[in-house]
Amino acid sequence: MKVAVVKENAPGERRVALVPETVPRLTQAGLEVLIEEGAGDGAWYPDSTYLAAGATIADTADLYATADVILTVTRPDDEAVKKLRSGQVVVGMLAPLIDPQFAEALAERGVTAVSLDGLPRTLSRAQGMDALTSQANVAGYKAVLVAAEAYGRFFPLLITAAGTARPARVLVLGTGVAGLQAIGTARRLGAVVSAYDVRPETRSEAESVGATFIELSTIGPASGDGGYARELTEDERLAQQQELAGHIARHDVVITTAQVPGRRPPLLVTEDALKAMPAGSVIVDMGASPLGGNVAGSEPGQTVVTDNGVTIVGAAGLPSTMPTAASAMYARNITALLLSLISDGTLALNGDDELLAGIIVTRDGAIVHPALSHTNQPEA
Ligand code: NAD
Repeated sequence: MKVAVVKENAPGERRVALVPETVPRLTQAGLEVLIEEGAGDGAWYPDSTYLAAGATIADTADLYATADVILTVTRPDDEAVKKLRSGQVVVGMLAPLIDPQFAEALAERGVTAVSLDGLPRTLSRAQGMDALTSQANVAGYKAVLVAAEAYGRFFPLLITAAGTARPARVLVLGTGVAGLQAIGTARRLGAVVSAYDVRPETRSEAESVGATFIELSTIGPASGDGGYARELTEDERLAQQQELAGHIARHDVVITTAQVPGRRPPLLVTEDALKAMPAGSVIVDMGASPLGGNVAGSEPGQTVVTDNGVTIVGAAGLPSTMPTAASAMYARNITALLLSLISDGTLALNGDDELLAGIIVTRDGAIVHPALSHTNQPEA
């Protein structure tokens, strides 16, 4: 079976789906590994390093014509989808829920789509395959470095002959995977860190990595299914925004990571909250998206400075800004998935299994993912 890594084509994307270190694990399992010319360049893995690891470098046309399985980091664009053949399997973080047309296009072409975003993350056998977690860890770490870069003062307490600098006060809003990594990183830089989440069960996790957990008195717990948060009601949202504003004004740096599955990111930092922050404060909005983010006025990929001197970084695509580490982690995730699926030299994708049900989006010309399959019903 030929497994091929394509060069990513999303704007600014520098990650690659396999790194040389992971190639021998696949070849030892009987797979042939093809790498599109230059696929690893953006992550500092030149073609020669893949060759040395036992892979073959292929040009784009050969790769699409001969591969049984195509590995990607993000979803293929329209041009790449047109190159996929019936019977081919594509594996990546395909984000199929964003728009049903993408899954429809793959189903029409007879492509089997496997998306790591749907992995049941709490299954213990899926831990090593959890790309959402590995990439969120990279993002949470980098968010702190981005904040420190934009902040005009020190993070640590510094006692020098030229005076004493007090440590930065950092607030992390949302203490899932990225938030916990952000807390730990800000602590390692010497900041004093507070954290808040609507899921009270995250308190002990946030405290264990060094944050003081903030509890709001005006809203209750909002834990949803599967370890995620639920969407807040309008009343809860307003109460949360108002009470958070007081805490936000007492911090120098705010890092927001809040997400609710299938919903636009909740707005946690309002315009009023921004107005109450002193000049020189910094906010890194990891929820920044074209639909809006956790912070009023944040723009994905842009840095905005408010009239009162608050810098808001719309931190989209952070894992891609650490392409070597992010690719290495992603490559281990996707390799673990492939190795778990190989049976008699092919991928076993037909079983009745919780893990497969979460990740298989299209198969045999149909959309089969439970969250999307209604889009493929024949018209009455
Ligand atoms: P996420 O990206 O969906 O959300 C980030 C955080 O934002 C969450 O902690 C969420 O509670 C919080 N949030 C949402 N709305 C908010 C609001 N209005 N105000 C404040 N905070 C808000 O989360 P994630 O990082 O993907 O993690 C989701 C869950 O999955 C967590 O419980 C995590 O522990 C769990 N998880 C488990 C495993 C495992 O069992 N191996 C692996 C990965 C993740």
